[in-house]
Amino acid sequence: MKVLVVGGGGREHALLWKAAQSPLVERLYAAPGNAGMEALAELVPWGGDVEALADWALAEGIDLTLVGPEAPLVEGIADAFLERGLLVFGPTQKAAMIEGSKAFAKGLMERYGIPTARHRVFREPLEALEYLEEVGVPVVVKDSGLAAGKGVTVAFDLHQAKQAVANILNRAEGGEVVIEEYLEGEEATVLALTDGETILPLLPSQDHKRLLDGDQGPMTGGMGAVAPYPMDGATLRRVEEEILKPLIAGLRAEGVVYRGVVYAGLMLTREGPKVLEFNARFGDPEAQALLPLLESDLVELALRVAEGRLGGVELSWKPGAAACVVLAAPGYPESPRKGIPLQVPEPPEGVLVFHAGTRREGGVLVSAGGRVLNVVGLGQDLREALERAYAYIPRVGFPGAVYRRDIGFRALKGSRA
Ligand code: AMP
Repeated sequence: MKVLVVGGGGREHALLWKAAQSPLVERLYAAPGNAGMEALAELVPWGGDVEALADWALAEGIDLTLVGPEAPLVEGIADAFLERGLLVFGPTQKAAMIEGSKAFAKGLMERYGIPTARHRVFREPLEALEYLEEVGVPVVVKDSGLAAGKGVTVAFDLHQAKQAVANILNRAEGGEVVIEEYLEGEEATVLALTDGETILPLLPSQDHKRLLDGDQGPMTGGMGAVAPYPMDGATLRRVEEEILKPLIAGLRAEGVVYRGVVYAGLMLTREGPKVLEFNARFGDPEAQALLPLLESDLVELALRVAEGRLGGVELSWKPGAAACVVLAAPGYPESPRKGIPLQVPEPPEGVLVFHAGTRREGGVLVSAGGRVLNVVGLGQDLREALERAYAYIPRVGFPGAVYRRDIGFRALKGSRA
């Protein structure tokens, strides 16, 4: 098969790396890809036009396309491929609304009784500000639209909450803000493959969204991830029964068949798991930790998802754990410095490097984005996985690399308990 991976981040490098191991694959393509993906695939220059890419895929005879990032999904890349009779792993534009509009996702959760924070949606700044006065802090203010993981403010003072509302509603016409109840608990992610009927949860994982150690500093796209996150079986079953099943069945009841991977960002509260957000794709960096643990053939799974043949399939996993540490450019997330020369020596056994914002400039590997490299350690347990990742990090990367020294600290506590 000719398989195309859409995107150019660490998640897509991991998808491509995993796809490359499939006996079904004859040729791999990545659009637009990054410097780390060159060795595995033909890089297809692509500026983001979904129709143009679908035309190219049709002409090239691409058999299956795996879409990594949310932006093309929300723009309707799956629809463009399906209209041309091409197989695609990734939800249609309507289905991707679970991520494209937090207001839509909240409405859906309300209609199908999926546990989540209480909320209100506003378009009028004055009404939103009045509501903030009424509910007080702590409170969470979210941009309803896509914001690359950076559109959320957890406010502990009213001024900060009001500022966040103003930033969202004054920035652009048609802005929408979701104001919701602050939830306390431990955060975790459960991803699941689905063909719109069958739901196959992947191992639980945990992202680290804040820039600095101890979950301090600004929100980022994600600074590291671990898998499996030690979630007890009863909680995982509740996630399946109370969250994933009603989500997929609810969409179906509304005429939307969800095919791809669905991401449930969860707060494990005292009352049980509640949804912080849904995403319509693999998490980045959760994918970089999960895919190396997946034993099953990703391409076969993606094909089954795309064709609606996931029923009866069971996933198999490698034993052990994985930890991904993101190396970001100085200045990330506000204004990452680009063009920094990078060192990526051959990693030792048990360590993988997935590129994110990297580019080759006249034969020299340089940084080309905020998150630059992902170092993934694999081990018998999380401790060993982390040790391997952190032992390699001093040898890789670039001067001034920003990374967290405490990836996995919560999961380690959990696994000891
Ligand atoms: P989201 O993109 O909606 O997952 O939000 C990003 C981050 O903001 C989450 O990973 C949480 O750390 C935090 N967050 C979002 N919603 C809430 C909430 N209702 N209560 C507490 N923290 C939240």
